[in-house]
Amino acid sequence: MKDTIIVTEKEFGIHEECGIFGVSSLTKQNLAQDIYYGLFALQHRGQESAGIAVSYEKNRIAYYKNMGLVNDVFGTEELALLPASQTGIGHVRYSTTGSSNVVNAQPVVFYGRYGRLALAHNGNIVNADIIRERMIKAGHIFQSSIDSEVLAALVNHYATDSLLQGITKACEDILGAYAFVIMSEGTLYAVRDTRGMKPLVMGEKDGMILFASESCAIDAVDARVIRDVAPGEIVKVNPDGTTESVFLSNVQKKSCIFEYVYLARSDSVIDNVSVYEARYQCGKLLAELHKIDADIVAGVPDSAIVCARGYSETSGIPYVDALSKNRYVGRSFIQPSQSMRESSVKIKLNAFRSNIKGKRLILIDDSIVRGTTSKKIIKLLRQNGVKEVHMLVASPIVKFPCYFGVDMQTKEQLIGGFQNEEAICAEIGADSLHYIPLELLKSACGCKNDDYCVACFDGNYPYELDEIHCGNHILEN
Ligand code: SF4
Repeated sequence: MKDTIIVTEKEFGIHEECGIFGVSSLTKQNLAQDIYYGLFALQHRGQESAGIAVSYEKNRIAYYKNMGLVNDVFGTEELALLPASQTGIGHVRYSTTGSSNVVNAQPVVFYGRYGRLALAHNGNIVNADIIRERMIKAGHIFQSSIDSEVLAALVNHYATDSLLQGITKACEDILGAYAFVIMSEGTLYAVRDTRGMKPLVMGEKDGMILFASESCAIDAVDARVIRDVAPGEIVKVNPDGTTESVFLSNVQKKSCIFEYVYLARSDSVIDNVSVYEARYQCGKLLAELHKIDADIVAGVPDSAIVCARGYSETSGIPYVDALSKNRYVGRSFIQPSQSMRESSVKIKLNAFRSNIKGKRLILIDDSIVRGTTSKKIIKLLRQNGVKEVHMLVASPIVKFPCYFGVDMQTKEQLIGGFQNEEAICAEIGADSLHYIPLELLKSACGCKNDDYCVACFDGNYPYELDEIHCGNHILEN
């Protein structure tokens, strides 16, 4: 029997947990198609499962979800299962809580006090386990291991007078990073946590109101971006198209700066800051700070390419493509042997030998998390004849874990958890290594009044650590 090893996308770096999309229309129409294209644009945020739910008549929700990319999950047949509707939501998932199987795929569809509901969530609720335990003791049951189901159950638990009341009170109990959309009978709600850690943008098209994790998904369906949902805001879209907002208390914006560094698509705009501009500016600032005697500059695809172009413009050192990325490696794939696993980076990346042979290269990456990929890339470049590799990183050393839905959960996983720049340089095999200072990254991302979470760089979390680890919220009767 052959020795087979499942290798997932997780091997290649950090990941966002999910992408969400929601739409409300004045009339019944084929919303599944818009959601499908919206999810396509959000595919980079989650590649393990995809799902769409539409509310098509009183107390009736049709939905389909499965493991795989949007394109694998939805063909003409599956989309035809989803009738014309007035509200619909969609989800793409990458698991960091709950295992990777279809039971944990979203949207979560359930019966509650207000009939049939569906919820799609992006983020990580850090006290979900504690709340789940308490709810189980109180007689609730759960069918999955995901925090989103806890959220759905909590909303229903508190929705004694209205669904809006249930959402508001549930948000007072949960702690962590979240953006979610929830729908019932033609009404759609969109919610962003009090720190605004996860992005959520609102758009409009022909009387429809749309929500998406990133503006690129609003663009993809030919809609117009209206604004970002504010931290701590609950937007309710009524069946007649009117909207109203309720605001949670204790708002203190701390948006995840890693969205600009790596997670978001370069063509998205989050909280009025262009991701492309932030990355380009990082490259320019790196060039002003680190003047390196080299022949060419290149970026690790995709997110560091923009940064490398910024470096090239300011330094005058020509930009080249050094690495080619196989865009079809996204899902889990099977490798035949341990030795193949060692060279797994070659399945994803290959070098442009003629561009780099005999050259002194400045290689820019957005971040170094575990260091294994950087090490393999530098080895690959040397095998292809590069003379020197000077590595620049468009974020500071990642020293602390993230508890908020980005897949870097323990200090031990991080190459910078216990090592300085010099030791990391030696470990990844570069000729030199420099990181951008935190203050410059913040200024490139338009930081005002410390309104970004930068905890993985400086350890200052947007919640108290004992809250994160223990949870201190009590489920009311
Ligand atoms: S710890 Fe880092 S990755 Fe996590 S939310 Fe904060 S900035 Fe983002």
